[in-house]
Amino acid sequence: AKKAGKNRWFWFESPMESELRFRSDLERALRGGILAGEFVPFYEQQIDLATGRIIGFEMLARWNSPRFGMVGPDVFIPVAEEIGVIADLSERLIRQALLDAREWAPSLTLSVNISPLQLRDPWFAQKLLKLLVEANFPPSRLEIEITESCLHENVGLVRSLITSLKNQGVAISLDDFGSGYSSLAQLRSLPFDRLKIDRSFVTAMPGNRDNATIVQAITSLGEGLGLPITAEGVENAEVVAELQKLGQFMAQGYLYGRPEPAEQTRERLAKLGML
Ligand code: C2E
Ligand code: CA
Ligand code: CA
Ligand code: CA
Repeated sequence: AKKAGKNRWFWFESPMESELRFRSDLERALRGGILAGEFVPFYEQQIDLATGRIIGFEMLARWNSPRFGMVGPDVFIPVAEEIGVIADLSERLIRQALLDAREWAPSLTLSVNISPLQLRDPWFAQKLLKLLVEANFPPSRLEIEITESCLHENVGLVRSLITSLKNQGVAISLDDFGSGYSSLAQLRSLPFDRLKIDRSFVTAMPGNRDNATIVQAITSLGEGLGLPITAEGVENAEVVAELQKLGQFMAQGYLYGRPEPAEQTRERLAKLGML
């Protein structure tokens, strides 16, 4: 639209026009950013609560955009899914993460998040195994995290993908358990190796009986099914104390550290003698 100034004309956009423009700028920047290598893996420590030791890291993607600054995955993953570039983006991130993780002590694991859309690709397992071979990274050190929304997809296909990955030694976690539309029946539909309790329950445990009760119930469910459990979103020592009363956990959260770039992860591990 055009608007008359005194002797000038200038353009203005309605809120909807500017939103659409922002969105198409974002999409263009995202496509370009993939090719320019602007997407980088960050790593979050995973701790064995029983010993306090680091047992691995979860890779969390970041977009270091010259235009938008440091952008989080909650913003760009949905866009990457919508414009059909998630598989390409994820493959590049995993390739880099495998190279990074190869420097760590061989006992340390690497967890990566997989979008439900990637599990619609019948070649997903082969592609992932190929990345492992190319990076010379043992499949038994890799864990993939999927959310229950994967289970609304073609369960037969997802099961066969998961089975071929498991046969090669890759472990499968059910992420964000307890949130969204997860149901107990879904726990049986796939052979998971681990449950990750959604951080909303964990973070709010102290002083909230309901959240503590939910965490307790998930814990006994995991124990009964023989599934190890990760508590995400551990932000303070109070939560650790409550978890330790309930059972065995692996823990992640800001108490241990924010996700950090490969170089800082390396330095951390070097200090611990874990390179
Ligand atoms: P997620 O897999 O549930 O990852 C945990 C998120 O919680 C991360 O946010 C992490 O930074 C944050 N977090 C960790 N500890 C704490 C804590 O103590 N307190 C609080 N408040 N938050 C904590 P992030 O990095 O923004 O990632 C958001 C989501 O984006 C992830 O949730 C994951 O589902 C998705 N994501 C990240 N990287 C990838 C990727 O490469 N591919 C796909 N498909 N999804 C990804
Ligand atoms: Ca995750
Ligand atoms: Ca999670
Ligand atoms: Ca999540």
